[in-house]
Amino acid sequence: IFITVEGPDGAGKTSVVKRLETLLKNELGKETVVLTREPGGIPIAEEIRKVILDPKNVEMDARTEALLYAAARRQHLVERIIPALNEGKVILCDRFVDSSLAYQGAGRKIGMEPVLSINEFATEGLLPDLTLYLDVDSDTGLERIRRGRTVDQLDRLDQESAVFHQRVQHAYIKLAEQDPERIVTINARKDLNTVVTECLKTIKGRFF
Ligand code: C5P
Ligand code: MG
Repeated sequence: IFITVEGPDGAGKTSVVKRLETLLKNELGKETVVLTREPGGIPIAEEIRKVILDPKNVEMDARTEALLYAAARRQHLVERIIPALNEGKVILCDRFVDSSLAYQGAGRKIGMEPVLSINEFATEGLLPDLTLYLDVDSDTGLERIRRGRTVDQLDRLDQESAVFHQRVQHAYIKLAEQDPERIVTINARKDLNTVVTECLKTIKGRFF
């Protein structure tokens, strides 16, 4: 079972997947649950992540960025996600294709079609069984990050304008509307406990 968690910066994805990992491991056994993230999750993809997120590469062309995310995704899929799926594991992944559609497609204005097409090449069409979309408005999300993160991360964040983050959020909302079977929207303005409970309920309702 392949589950992804998506949402704008500050939605709480990383905290939520960690909590879900613990809760699902308690129920299903330690060996059964795999937590991973994008871009990264395996050495080659973590290297690509460093290149993309390096502040000195801030002028990187948007399509170059999209290709690097897709390349990292491909390697992560082949090396980590597909083998785990073949072993019957439950994979929790912090971000996947929807992030590229929202950030590169809408945020960077490449458009959905070209981003979708390079990602179909990268994934050979593999989609998650379930995507939990943590919905938060950009003001709330950015405010959370300002409270919780390092100066480096804040620098990167401030390079993107508020309208960039609004485009990202709106794209996620649209994606969720287009594919409500796969993408379940969770109100992530609520506190962490409530969000985690909602996510767990959705996962159990769907699979267990
Ligand atoms: O998920 P995480 O917060 O670790 O992502 C690191 C950074 O990469 C974030 O600032 C996010 O906005 C950015 N990102 C992006 N496009 C993606 C995935 C992540 O711009 N497809
Ligand atoms: Mg995160």
